[in-house]
Amino acid sequence: MGLKGDSGMNAPTPILMDIDQHAALPFPQSLPEFQRLFPDDAACAEYLEKLRWGDGFVCPYCDATGEPFRIATRPGVLTCRKCRRQTGLTVGTVMERSHTPLSTWFWASYLVASQTPGMSAVQFQRQLGIARYETAFQILHKLRAGMVRPDQDRIGGRANEHVEVDEGWVGGRTRGEGRGIHHKVLVACAVEVRHRKPGTAQDKRKDGRYAGRVRLAVTVDRSAKSLCGFVEGAVAPGTLIVTDDWSGYTGLRMRGYEHHAIAECGDPEVTEEFLPIIHLVFANLKTWLIGIHHGVSAQHLQAYLNEFTFRFNRRFYPFNAFRSLLGIAGEVRAPTYAELYSGDWAHPTCSGCMG
Ligand SMILES: [Zn+2]
Repeated sequence: MGLKGDSGMNAPTPILMDIDQHAALPFPQSLPEFQRLFPDDAACAEYLEKLRWGDGFVCPYCDATGEPFRIATRPGVLTCRKCRRQTGLTVGTVMERSHTPLSTWFWASYLVASQTPGMSAVQFQRQLGIARYETAFQILHKLRAGMVRPDQDRIGGRANEHVEVDEGWVGGRTRGEGRGIHHKVLVACAVEVRHRKPGTAQDKRKDGRYAGRVRLAVTVDRSAKSLCGFVEGAVAPGTLIVTDDWSGYTGLRMRGYEHHAIAECGDPEVTEEFLPIIHLVFANLKTWLIGIHHGVSAQHLQAYLNEFTFRFNRRFYPFNAFRSLLGIAGEVRAPTYAELYSGDWAHPTCSGCMG
């Protein structure tokens, strides 16, 4: 993610992260490389097969191992040598039951994961020549479901590092509804604050501090239950948490966190001094939602928060992120078109923190 005020530094040593998973598989770092790696649907199918069965195909029906039969005209289907049953490559992934060619899914993953601001459904539809806007919209939303690791851990928990937590109103779509009508949604945010090594180029204003990983979740209100609940789902216990002096955060100590509340946070200079990183994240998030997506509906905001988080946390490794996205997307279920529109689909959040 192009975090303003965050440039000119070397990529820090990655921690945990999925960027090294499937390390044997290459990932494209340019459009020509993409074309070389994925010239057609068959090449995409081969890649997807390696992502899903790194140690060789295992039949989901009879557990038989060994090379499956392949049908040249249907690259997405593997046939077990023993029981002869067919397994779809995309079954159990966000691509399941899609009529869209695998190569289009791969383009989408590449563009969403590696391009600094991602892309809107309109841009995506245009770039790939997709006939219907709804198809482009749905592909991007399915990929967003693949942007939250099912086993996502909590941030923080490291010595010499604290986490800033704050909540803020993030604007929804306002066009065409007249003046004064808005659908702002309350969003809670937690971000790791790291320190540059002494001797490296430093931004004096931020005193060498920069953002580590972030967690973002829609929250129903500013109550202690909601905000402390968010922290419990998103941040490892024992972490030093810095917030403003809002009463919703006073229970953090009782819940096993170190807590430092900054008084008089209405003062912009105080904010800049003590909570600089989280305000940078909120500013970037708002700019992105307006600039790329022209605002999003409250119903789907969490999905966009997930996309922002996915790219932000991998912003030093945008190309690995393509492989990560396909890897995660191969393990999770995505909303159907009907679920997306009916509101029956709950966009995943960090560790179920919002209940
Ligand atoms: Zn079998």
